[in-house]
Amino acid sequence: MVERKPIIVGNWKMYKTISETRTTLSALRAAVQDVDSVEIGIAPPFTSLAAAAEVLSGSNISLAAQNMHYGDAGAFTGEVSAPMLLDAGVTHAILGHSERREYFGETDDLIASKVKAALENGIVPILCVGETQVQREADETVSVVTGQLSGALSELRGADLGTLVVAYEPIWAIGTGLTATPEQAQQVHEIIRDFIGDLLGGVVAERLRIQYGGSVKPDNAAELLAQLDIDGALVGGASLDSESLSAIVHAA
Ligand code: PEP
Repeated sequence: MVERKPIIVGNWKMYKTISETRTTLSALRAAVQDVDSVEIGIAPPFTSLAAAAEVLSGSNISLAAQNMHYGDAGAFTGEVSAPMLLDAGVTHAILGHSERREYFGETDDLIASKVKAALENGIVPILCVGETQVQREADETVSVVTGQLSGALSELRGADLGTLVVAYEPIWAIGTGLTATPEQAQQVHEIIRDFIGDLLGGVVAERLRIQYGGSVKPDNAAELLAQLDIDGALVGGASLDSESLSAIVHAA
């Protein structure tokens, strides 16, 4: 059986100034300095990347972007490319977050281009998928999630996908305080792994790390992370506080 190193990533969304970034990350760095069995990442807003890179230099915390354009350079006002992110010290990118799909019209085709560009540039793509409350109640969870996966990945070959991370984030659990039960989350994670196996082969599926996201907190993290197919967490609200993110890391 393949060992999958748990990966915990904090998504700060549109929060924190540069000075707040420095304070929070200095505290986080100290709180997790002894951890080597968990991969840790932080996705600050773009304005804080330089400060975050400085504070995290030489630490066990990686720098992630919350979004990325698929091109290397060009006339794309407001966008940031993979080479620019690499230059800023970024190693991971959250792609296709439900907030980007909902508020900025990101489609599976666009997200597919971003995943491909991330992989080509050596950035670890964290591909987010998940269903709404209405879709879950209509029994559409599996078709929505597998549709998002095939939309974003079907043009890629298994060999290209070594570093891919998938984040299962039920939209009804994001920022709401509602969490999928460990059993509900495990059920979808297992379906995701089986589907990736069919799409890209058993080796990719076995190696694939699948994060859970949706109101992960210090008090529910251990139970979620104990599930067989849950290999980490994508953490929004609770990642803004160094103590709670560190507690989640230690739970993993
Ligand atoms: C997220 O935005 O990816 C997320 C999981 O947020 P929260 O932890 O606040 O639900």
